[in-house]
Amino acid sequence: MKTSVSIMPKVPGAEPPPASPNPLEAGLVDQFGRRATDLRISLIDKCNLRCTYCMPENGLPWLKKDQLMTLDEVVRLVRIGVDTFGVRELRLTGGEPLVRHDLVDVIAGIRAEHPDLPIAMTTNAIGLEKKAQALADAGLDRVNISLDSIHKETFAQLTRRDQLEKVLVGVHAAAEAGLTPLKVNAVLMRGINDAEAADLLAWCLENGFELRFIEHMPLDADQNWKREGTVSAAETRALLSQRYDLSPTQENRDGAPAERFDVRDRGSGELLGRVGVIASVTEPFCSACTRTRVTAEGRVMSCLFSAEEYDLMHLLRDDTKSDDDVAQRWAGAMWAKPAAHGSSRPGFEREGFSRPERSMSAIGG
Ligand code: SAM
Ligand code: SF4
Ligand code: SF4
Repeated sequence: MKTSVSIMPKVPGAEPPPASPNPLEAGLVDQFGRRATDLRISLIDKCNLRCTYCMPENGLPWLKKDQLMTLDEVVRLVRIGVDTFGVRELRLTGGEPLVRHDLVDVIAGIRAEHPDLPIAMTTNAIGLEKKAQALADAGLDRVNISLDSIHKETFAQLTRRDQLEKVLVGVHAAAEAGLTPLKVNAVLMRGINDAEAADLLAWCLENGFELRFIEHMPLDADQNWKREGTVSAAETRALLSQRYDLSPTQENRDGAPAERFDVRDRGSGELLGRVGVIASVTEPFCSACTRTRVTAEGRVMSCLFSAEEYDLMHLLRDDTKSDDDVAQRWAGAMWAKPAAHGSSRPGFEREGFSRPERSMSAIGG
């Protein structure tokens, strides 16, 4: 008798997820009653910086061009997300989305079908100077720009590239092109840029940008993350309070990851602006999560920390498969979304927590 050989799926992630018991019109709901209406699509895994908390020094093996979702595939996915599942906002990310040559056309293609969909992009702003106006004209509404320091040496140390000037030029071009409200994302690394937190806030306030600090999560490709190395939201607030008066804004957070604070001048009490702190590690907000993510090669990641990913690309590239076939798999992937941080309860310290194999750049933050 012949020994049976197990047949592996040809495409990683192509094993079907458990079927969602809900009709497609119910949206991207999971077993814990959350509904994902915030779609994040990574357009490319490649990046021109090497932020220590994200990428290894020598980069990663990049996807080949034909492994990336094409413009038409991205537009189709957004159509399914919006028309079938009631997705209400879209964020384009990466890797670095500006590295993608057809970015303007991707945005124009999405905008042509969804005149009212809020479209945002997360970017490191390198090269934005040349593209900001074209992106705004194509229909991009606003950008979040990652900037961890306004000091040249610190920036170079954190990103392993001496490119602060290019980023600053890009930031100002985005503001001029009306890609606003412009938000700045910063990760604080202990002993590297934490002492500069208030300087960065001062710069953002002067320029009318809203700064958001994101706690460092275990999503660095180098796997150097340590719980005690994370500058917590509480520490961040304390660092900023050395220079400014902070008070929580009087607004309903409504599931938003950032806790926002009014920032006032110490002496006069004048309101200078706002700052957000995203406490993904120390004060997780998973029970209110509204995210669904698709990676650059077309795989659904229901959670940043999912061990499971489900491939949509082989369906998108199969002429016999309809939008409903794609939607069924997407809905199943989201039905299986873990309660929190890739598990049934939040926290990065509990026994058995395992980080995802992918780095933030390969997921799409
Ligand atoms: N390259 C673009 C950028 O940096 O804005 C978009 C992709 S990047 C992966 C998206 C966001 O993820 C950035 O704001 C970055 O600061 C954040 N990020 C990356 N690795 C992180 C980590 N380990 N913990 C927390 N945030 C991280
Ligand atoms: Fe590139 Fe963004 Fe990751 Fe920095 S955080 S290495 S800019 S993908
Ligand atoms: Fe949502 Fe997962 Fe992030 Fe929690 S860890 S907020 S469930 S994506």
